[in-house]
Amino acid sequence: MLKTLYAKLLAVLVGLSVITAIIFVVVIRHSDVARNQEINQKLYRNLAARLIDEQILSERDSADPAAVQRVFDRIRIVNPRIDVYLLDHAGRVVAASVQDGMKTGTVGLEPIRKFFDENAKLPILGDDPSDPGRQRVFSVAPVPLPGAAPGYLYLMLRGLSGDTLVQRIKQSYVLRETLILIGCGLAVALLASVMIITLMTRPLRQLTAVMDKFRLSGFAEHPEALRPLGDEVGTLTQAFNSMADRILDQMRALQETDAKRREFVANISHDLRTPLATLQGYLETLHLKQADLSPEEQRAYLGTALKQTEQLSGLIGRLFDLARLDSGQTVVNREPFALGDLVQDVAQEFDLAAQTKTITLKTAIRPDLPLAFGDIALLERVLRNLIENALRYTESGGAVTISAAPHGTYASVEVADTGIGIPAQELAQIFERFYRVEKSRGLAQGNAGLGLAIAKRILDLHESTITAKSEPGHTSFRFNVAYASQQPAAPARDSAAYTGDAASNARSVPAFTYPMADPSA
Ligand code: ADP
Repeated sequence: MLKTLYAKLLAVLVGLSVITAIIFVVVIRHSDVARNQEINQKLYRNLAARLIDEQILSERDSADPAAVQRVFDRIRIVNPRIDVYLLDHAGRVVAASVQDGMKTGTVGLEPIRKFFDENAKLPILGDDPSDPGRQRVFSVAPVPLPGAAPGYLYLMLRGLSGDTLVQRIKQSYVLRETLILIGCGLAVALLASVMIITLMTRPLRQLTAVMDKFRLSGFAEHPEALRPLGDEVGTLTQAFNSMADRILDQMRALQETDAKRREFVANISHDLRTPLATLQGYLETLHLKQADLSPEEQRAYLGTALKQTEQLSGLIGRLFDLARLDSGQTVVNREPFALGDLVQDVAQEFDLAAQTKTITLKTAIRPDLPLAFGDIALLERVLRNLIENALRYTESGGAVTISAAPHGTYASVEVADTGIGIPAQELAQIFERFYRVEKSRGLAQGNAGLGLAIAKRILDLHESTITAKSEPGHTSFRFNVAYASQQPAAPARDSAAYTGDAASNARSVPAFTYPMADPSA
């Protein structure tokens, strides 16, 4: 009961209306009584004085109780709502028109004194001798008492003060009309408030319904889009919409991570099992048939087994590197360095491998390249992975070019090859761990698909990005490295190989328009 805000608001509203109605009735009753008393006292204010002036109660009469009673009875016949008392100078009741009802013998003199003050505000209430504790409006006039100090003719004006509100409502047309008008006003105000509350809480109720639906769907279904209004509920709706989008994105990301984790475990099991099984096979053969095998065969078997262990240790090493990069344990030791020298050194390391495969390995380093800023070892790793790939996927007779040139506020490094290329639909995925195009190519070539993932992770740590472009016969990977300062670095050691015009070269980005250094040359 009263669980919703709407129900609570309605209950509060109805409660407030009832309290307002009660306050109205109490105030009306009070003011009605006070008004009647005032009118009554104003009308009869001089009645006691007139009775004395007209000698209806003469000094002679006041000495005779029977005569007093006769006068009192006559007054009561004229107006039965008036009780008449004769008081002595101290307020003690000497005679009364209501003998039976008279309970107290004394009337307080303070209201009587106030009554004689012309400026006193009406109504003035005096003690009712027939109803102790109760006060009513009265009229009073001094009356001479034989053989004593003057007393008072004290008229208790009962008027309508004894009537209940219901009796008064029945009697008074004006009061009835007033109450009906107030009642109608309250009803209209209540109805209007209910309508306003219903209208104002509608967006809130809609939002609650949508939120409930979203919760019941296990935060999986996109909630119905609500049009946000320009008020607080609108802000709430907007906040909910973006929160729901965020939750859905995160749920999707969690599902994707979970799927990737499963794939990761499956891939890793496969990639570890294959070389392990081969290794085990060769070692078992050697162990069981050692006597039957010639020394050459034994050497060949051992060589293959060794190759498998190298492959295994390489794979485990890459996995370990990636795990360290992911866990945030890798410390990035940034320092200023000559990027041209690094490119040159790494290219030279692959010189022999390129020659063996008869691939031309060239570098193109712009001499005006400023000092770069980054972790040399990590960026070397990126370069290695890219050059390894370029050499692996380029056939004999092809070329691999590594260039480094200023590119806006960064130094841009590019590793390009004339190899087999990457299908356009695969380009977006090649940076994912364990992703290998070979699977779709149906080739056994390649490693575990971790090289580019490691390169990307390293560049993430340098707040840099890596992009790939490919078409058959031409593939290039490009990444940026921050400058240490705006000062150009010392010329690369191999700058002797650079023979072009520096001024024109400075304008030529990308770097393929200027002469290239061939480390194998
Ligand atoms: P791997 O170590 O298996 O080469 P990488 O993460 O380095 O894994 O590369 C992912 C995939 O991207 C590779 O399997 C390969 O198919 C493709 N790839 C990367 N570099 C090249 C390139 N230069 N030319 C053609 N394909 C490439």
